[in-house]
Order: sequence, then structure tokens, then C-alpha cells
Amino acid sequence: NTTQTRKQKPVLKLCNQPRCAADAISRREILKKQRESLPIASVKERLVQEVKNHDVLIIVGETGSGKTTQLPQFLFNAGFCPNGKVIGITQPRRVAAVTVAKRVAEECGVELGLKVGYSIRFDDKTSSSTRIKYMTDGLLLRVRVKGASCCVLLIADTGSFCHVKGEALLDPYLSRYSVIIVDEAHERTVHTDVLLGLLKNVQRARLKSVIDHAVVNNKKASNGITKENEKGAECTNFLKQCQRKFPPLKLIIMSASLDARLFSEYFGGARAVHVEGRQHHVDIFYTLHAETDYVDAALITVFQIHLEEGPGDILVFLTGQEEIEGVERLVQEQLQKLPEESRKLLTAPIFSSLPSEQQMRVFMPAPAGHRKVILATNIAETSVTIPGVKYVIDPGFIKARSYDPVKGMESLIIIPTSKAQALQRSGRAGREGPGKCFRLYPESEFEKLEDSTKPEIKRCNLSNVILQLKALGVDDIIGFDFLEKPSRAAIQKSLEELFLLGALTDDCKLSDPVGHQMARLPLDPIYSKALILASQFNCLEEMLIAVSMLSVESIFYNPREKSEEAKTAKKCFASPDGDHLTLINVYRAAGELLQKRRMELGIEKNEKNIKGKNEKILRKWCRENFINSRSLRHACDIHRLFTPSTSSFPLEVIFHCSQIRGHVEQMGLPISSCGDDTLQFRRCLAASFFLNAALKQPEGTYRALASGQVVQIHPTSVLHQSKVECVIFDELVQTSQKYIRNTTRIDYLWLTELAPHYYAMQG
Ligand code: ADP
Ligand code: MG
Repeated sequence: NTTQTRKQKPVLKLCNQPRCAADAISRREILKKQRESLPIASVKERLVQEVKNHDVLIIVGETGSGKTTQLPQFLFNAGFCPNGKVIGITQPRRVAAVTVAKRVAEECGVELGLKVGYSIRFDDKTSSSTRIKYMTDGLLLRVRVKGASCCVLLIADTGSFCHVKGEALLDPYLSRYSVIIVDEAHERTVHTDVLLGLLKNVQRARLKSVIDHAVVNNKKASNGITKENEKGAECTNFLKQCQRKFPPLKLIIMSASLDARLFSEYFGGARAVHVEGRQHHVDIFYTLHAETDYVDAALITVFQIHLEEGPGDILVFLTGQEEIEGVERLVQEQLQKLPEESRKLLTAPIFSSLPSEQQMRVFMPAPAGHRKVILATNIAETSVTIPGVKYVIDPGFIKARSYDPVKGMESLIIIPTSKAQALQRSGRAGREGPGKCFRLYPESEFEKLEDSTKPEIKRCNLSNVILQLKALGVDDIIGFDFLEKPSRAAIQKSLEELFLLGALTDDCKLSDPVGHQMARLPLDPIYSKALILASQFNCLEEMLIAVSMLSVESIFYNPREKSEEAKTAKKCFASPDGDHLTLINVYRAAGELLQKRRMELGIEKNEKNIKGKNEKILRKWCRENFINSRSLRHACDIHRLFTPSTSSFPLEVIFHCSQIRGHVEQMGLPISSCGDDTLQFRRCLAASFFLNAALKQPEGTYRALASGQVVQIHPTSVLHQSKVECVIFDELVQTSQKYIRNTTRIDYLWLTELAPHYYAMQG
């Protein structure tokens, strides 16, 4: 009867909460030293001067040189935030905005949300005292003026105030901001591209207002002035005064790629400076032959490095959450097969929808004697710099959007990276010393890669962007000054889609009220339409859950090795009507579980204690039911914003950002539930997703009605291999086949009944 103490498994612990004052001081000392040794530190004065001298500045610098974390602090310290003005830094990715803001808050020794904060969709950690604000580029496009009843910050083409449905959309000058830094511009996300165009307009608008102001006031003042030289002096004085009143917006564009020409030309020959980075030698290895399964190849390489190479962390580039979590599990399983002394390998995933408190784990050093393997999407290419990496594994793929304007179909596809991306990835191994990069493809393949990735604006559906631009008062989309113009066909197709959804009128103006309502919701136009219609179909309660669940990646776990078990578990929630109702079932089951627990624990006083226990229970329940607890949690966070008062989830609460519920309520949409009458819910889906409908073909495949493409129901769908005649779907994914994901059974006749403007037209 011997008692054995079980060895505690080492974990990556958050160690940035110092335990005592001495800890805090030494931590600050370390941070200070780190900051001082960054390449950008040596050019601080020069950079500040450049920003003072130029209203548009392009900064190109090696990843890890300190651009994102340091430059805003330099500018703040140099007095770029007079009268409560804010320095805004946009990031293409949520994770980057959050992790960088946390880091900078720590470097400044302030609590996150005060001087330094972040704001991303569904999560806002800023306050009136925030001066350095990290945000996603998509968010700045639809900035909300805190405390004001208006939701969109208007940046009109003309620089004049516009009125949208009686609301004066505030501030065409972005006057709260003294500096906007558009970071990671080389990524060329559709939001970055559009933002640059809008910011160009803001700068123009501010300048125009200075001149207007000067002209008007100078006229008044010049009455009574006689001497010529006095008049000249007055004039200069006025301009100075006016500029103080309307200082120019400083715009800084930061990029990790060497090619600044495009940006410079776009801003009329703007000044570009280069920040030298430190890059050590990286040995590149290729495979001899093409790999059939890159996930498998990556796994083997991880263990080869772990068992054969010297100390240093491993960074693996994968394409998305599902893949990352799959590899994470496989690594852990393989580890169990190794002798005890070889098991010192810890996994740290990082991808966009990872809950924010887990994101910081990648930055934590592995305990002594251990190695860390970071499983990342292309976020780790340039957006976040993770210390300690010596080995990079690059399978050479990314998940990207692709849009066919003729068919009007957007799909997610896995495509090879560009040469520029491959170089960025290998560079991650040489930040702190010589490193190694393992490209999981033959060298001959590298030569075939595109030089750089095609900008997103040229390969995505533009409906969302067009809707936002229209809401911002930009009516002439084709004439908009894009950095690179999307194709006319893509613009037209997206306009057509918005028209079919009822967001635009015949003359391409935002419709009232639907178009305006849709523009207010930070969602894909189809989801917004579904929410608006749901209030009429008495199923807004259900649609809010469905939209939340669809907004996160993969609620269900589907491990290859346990796929039968996973299938059986899923059957408990499966609705014969399809995935949307299945997702709602999962959400409600989790809610009931916690409700029950809450009743049982009702007597317990300690809220925190209950929360901790509940989380454990929920995690266990998720594990047993093959549900992805991270995704479920994220979906709950999103849904909570819709129904904070009724949600029974004692999970992380996001207090600041109840905009969606606010908007839905402000729009006067009644929130009610259809109960067991799921017919209403499905009819509502048909009425809003009618552009994504597919009809069964005699040979068993489906034909997407809008595009005519032959597709199959994704194996993860509950309707896979069912005999359902007609479905609507959420997205089209293309791997070896064209698959439709998240499908729900509808009646074909509903389409002509509920979307006659489209289906009657099609005949
Ligand atoms: P750049 O924007 O030029 O790529 P960053 O400002 O993001 O560079 O990073 C500068 C340095 O700060 C890097 O060496 C990186 O390792 C470190 N760093 C950034 N964020 C964190 C973090 N959250 N934790 C630890 N180190 C970080
Ligand atoms: Mg950066």
C-alpha cells in the first residue's frame, strides 16, 4: 500500500504577474534591458524626428526589431498625445493586437486598459485614459465613438459631415487621433488596403479644414490691417493657430517587406525609412521528395529535432485552428511513447481565435531542460515575434480566401505560400542566434512559388467592405482611390449581392432601414441579414446563438484516430434538420449543464470558486462530448454580447463591448424564441442564405444554385450522406473536393417563396 506522489506535468505558466515588489522591480529591469537592446532603440531620436517632419512616413524593418512595441512609446514620450489625443496602431490580426498591447502595458508598467489598451471586435480594453491603442484594422474602419449614440465614425470622401438616418456620424477627421500607425501593411489585408484609402481622405479633409479655417478667419482679421508686412505676419500666425486647432493626422505605415515603393507612390512619394534588424544565419533544409501528408511530415520533423538537435524552441507553421489542435494532440500522444527523459517537450498553440488569456502562453519560456514547440498560423510570420525560436518547420501552406467573381463564390483554400512568406518564416529561426529551417517540400518547388502573396482585396468577396464604405458616405466604389483596384467584376458582383440581400436600393444607395442596420452589425452581410430577418420569423434568440457558433472555428473535435467515437458523441446533439440546429443544441446543452451545477452550488458564496469549478466541469463535459472547449467558450463570449443578461455562462465576461445587443435593441428588433418550432428558424435561414442554396443531383452530389458549382456536403456535417433534397450552407471549402460546410435542410419551394426576387428571376 505505497503512496506514490504523481509527478506534476510542467506547464507554460504565466509568469508576468510578479509575486512581490522585488520581483516586479527585477522584471522591469529585465524588460528595460530587453527594450534597450532592440535594434530600433538606437534610431529612436531619428525616427521621432522623421515623424515630426513628415505627415506620411513608411517604416520598413525586420520582424522583431521593435517597430510595433516601441515606436508608439517613443511617440508618446515625445509628446505626440497632446490634449488627450490617441496614438492608434492597427493590426491585421486580433491576436497581435491583444498580445502586443499586453506586452506594451507591461513595459510601461501600467494596467492594461488604462494608458495602453486594445480594441478588437467583440472585445474592448480601452478607457478614456488610453493613449496608445492597438486595434484591428477592420475595427478602425468602423470605430465606435464611446459614449456617443452613434456607432460609425464617418470618413466621408468630401470631408463633410453626413447624415445617415438622422444620425450625424461624428468626426470625419478622426480627431481623437494624433497618429495612426498602420502596421503589417505588407500583409495587404482587405481592411488595410481600404483603411489606407480612407486615411488618405482624412488627411486631406484635415488639411482642407485648416485652410478653410485660415481663410475665413484671416478675412475677418485682415479688416483694419493696413501695413503689408503686418498682414503677412498675421497670416502665418493664423495658419499656426489653425494648425494647433486642427493638427495634421500623422500617418505611419509599417511593413516587414523591403518593398516600400507601392506605399510611397500611393502617398505621393512619401518618405520611407529602413530600420536595420539583426538576423543570424539560418540553414535551410528541403525534403528530397514532395510530401503527401504535410501534417505527418511536420510531426516527424518535430520529433527529429527534439531528439537529435541542441536546445532551442521549435516553431511550426500550420494553416488553422483545426490543424493546430490536431497536431497538438498527436505530439502529446507521441510523447507518451517516448522514454521519460525524452518527454520534455511542451506545446503552445497560437491562432486568431485563441482566448486571449491563452495567447500569452507562447511567450512564456519553457521550464529548464524543456523545449517548447509553438504551433502557429501565419500570425507568427511577422505579426508576433516569439523569443527562443531556433528551429522553424515550414510545410509551405496557408489557408487563404479565394473569390470567383463570375460565380460569386468565396471559398477557403489551402494554397502554397509565396517566396516572401517562406523567407519570413525561415527568418524566425535566426532572431537570437544561428538557426535552422526545415521546408517540407523539395527545393525545386521553392523556385516555383509566387514572389509575393496576392493582396486580399483581389481575392475576396467585397460585400462587407462595400457596405462599410457606403455607410461611411463613399458612394462611388469603382472610383474610390484604392491602393490597388479590385476587379470591376468583383465590385459589381458584390454590389449585386448586397442588392439581392436588400442592403442597397436600385440606385446603389444604402437602403433604409435594412442597409443601415446591416452596416451597423460587425458581421458578414449574410449573418446580419439573418439576424434582421430572424426578428420577423420570431427566432432571433436562436439566430443569435447560431451566428455566434458560426463565428468561431470548428465547435466539434474530430480527431482522426477517434473519429468513430467522435461521431457517436455528436449524435447526441445532432438534429436531423442540419448543423445550425445541432450547434444550437450543443450551446443549450452546455447551458443546461451549467445551470444545473449552479443550482447545486447555489449555496456557495465564493463566486470565483464557482466559476473555477464550472469551468472544470465544462471542460470535462466538452472532452467527453468531443466538443472544442476553446471554440465553445469563444462562441459564448460572442453570444454574451447579444444576450448578456440571460446567458448562463459564468465564463470570461467581456464588459465593455455590448454593441451587438445594443444595436439589435436600438434597431428595435424584438428578441424572441421560436421554441420547438424549428420550421420558422429554417425558413429564416432560407430567406437569408438563399444565395448559398444547393440542390441534390441524381448522382448524389449537390449543385450550388447561385454558382452552378458541383459540391458535396462536408463529412463533418450532420447531413453528410443523408438524402436531403435541398440545403443552405454557410461556407464553401475547397480541398481535394468542393465541400459545403454547416448545412441545413430547407424546402426548395421556400426559395421561390422567400427570395422571389432571385429565384423567380432565375426561372
Ligand atoms: P516588430 O514589430 O519590429 O516585429 P516587436 O515590437 O513586435 O517587433 O517585438 C520586439 C521584441 O519584443 C521582440 O524581440 C519580441 O521578442 C519581444 N516581444 C514582443 N511581444 C512580446 C511578448 N508578448 N512577450 C515577450 N516578448 C515580446
Ligand atoms: Mg510588428
